[in-house]
Amino acid sequence: MRALISVSDKKELEDFAKFLAKKGYEIVATGGTKKFLEEREIKAISVEEITGYPEILNGRVKTLHPAIHGAILAEKNEDLEKYNLKGIDVVVVNLYPFEKNIGNEKDMIENIDIGGVALLRAAAKNYKRVLVISSPSQYKEVMDAMEKGEINEELRRRYALEAFALTASYDTMIYNAFWNKFYDGMPEHFLYYSKKKMELRYGENPHQRGALYMDGNVEWEQLHGKKLSFNNLYDMDAAWNIVMEFERPAVAIIKHANPCGAALGKDIKEAYMKALEGDPISAYGSIVASNKRIDEEAAKEMKKLFIEVLIAPDFTQDALEILEKKKNIRIIKVKKWKKEGWNLRRIDGGLLVQDWDTKRLEEAKCVSKRLPSEEEMRDLIFAWSVVRYVKSNAIVFAKNEALVGVGAGQMSRVDSVKIAAMKAGDRAKGAVMASDAFFPFRDAIDEAAKVGITAVIQPGGSKRDREVIEAIDENNMAMLFTGFRVFRH
Ligand code: 5GP
Repeated sequence: MRALISVSDKKELEDFAKFLAKKGYEIVATGGTKKFLEEREIKAISVEEITGYPEILNGRVKTLHPAIHGAILAEKNEDLEKYNLKGIDVVVVNLYPFEKNIGNEKDMIENIDIGGVALLRAAAKNYKRVLVISSPSQYKEVMDAMEKGEINEELRRRYALEAFALTASYDTMIYNAFWNKFYDGMPEHFLYYSKKKMELRYGENPHQRGALYMDGNVEWEQLHGKKLSFNNLYDMDAAWNIVMEFERPAVAIIKHANPCGAALGKDIKEAYMKALEGDPISAYGSIVASNKRIDEEAAKEMKKLFIEVLIAPDFTQDALEILEKKKNIRIIKVKKWKKEGWNLRRIDGGLLVQDWDTKRLEEAKCVSKRLPSEEEMRDLIFAWSVVRYVKSNAIVFAKNEALVGVGAGQMSRVDSVKIAAMKAGDRAKGAVMASDAFFPFRDAIDEAAKVGITAVIQPGGSKRDREVIEAIDENNMAMLFTGFRVFRH
């Protein structure tokens, strides 16, 4: 029995190689790997002893030889005999660490693995006979299986697929890195790689299958509660994005991807209480996010509401003890959340790809006769930070740095204003209004004035801006133009 080992990452190799040797495998290794093994007193044959040909071109060609690939790819003993080869039964490979060498072109080129990819593909193709091990994280399972004498076809097939996933992701990484280095704009081919994090009970609806795939830019840990659902995950994303808008303590309460509450406070408890007041009825069964650690005081209040998912950067021990008394709440601790790469949306037959919307308001122009007061200004900026997370047409009413009314996902902007007014009730009086895109007509302003809105923030840019500004001035309101819109479909 022969095992070929050629690995860049020598993590956990010593024990594994010793195990293979003990099990009677004759080890064949490439230069660096052989040296590593021999330093640890593990015997290995060099590739050259089999091929009669040395490694050349600084390692660019090491294992690319018929005597190696024939020994992996042969299906039957007769074929091995015909070419006088001794079969290789196990292939252990991990690739040059291209990902650690992105930047300098020469390093990038040198770190494109050629032979390792060929070994993985050859062994994976011939999985009926050969076991391909492509990651140190597989060593343990292999050792356990070998102990039990169970290297069966299912395991070999599964590992073959892992090898194909690795070579695919490796080439994806190479393409993306070179594209980003040498070209601007949208890549010619859109290649994206992610790994299954978990199977979900179902998709958006019970008759759809579902799973979560992650690409490494976001990491979180579930500390408590039932399994997350497809819709939980979608809403969690919206909730976390809102609170990440703010430095000060912020809480967002989400239903069906739209906020029904959002607020800032001196601490999380206050932010939560203010957010809850936004729409206490809709908040039932919501997804709640906090941008700061959740403490005992906040937890005591949160415990009173039926919350599907609570997501925060951290929880005090006391807070966890209080919250964990509730069986149904899912508690998520965020470990890493980076917006890298692209924002993707699937449509039939393709993928819409765009930048993440990371543009932030740096300055806004006052276009009304009256300037906003200090409080209005504060609430306008708050409302603008929230409206970008409301489905278009989006209208947000806010007062005292808390959301008091939302109009979401309407086909006409004036309807969104009416819904926000209905939701806010009396609280609209003295509140401000944010709109995710310009007002095509003055009707929405007239509606807002009627219920007591005093100031407005919106992109501007409509053909009828003049009429809209007139409506503002007639009602002694103040208005800011941001100069950019924040649609969210
Ligand atoms: P070593 O440290 O043993 O000298 O090299 C191990 C690495 O070489 C592994 O990452 C493996 O994927 C890679 N490798 C094996 N054969 C070849 C080859 O023929 N050409 C290239 N470029 N890399 C190879």
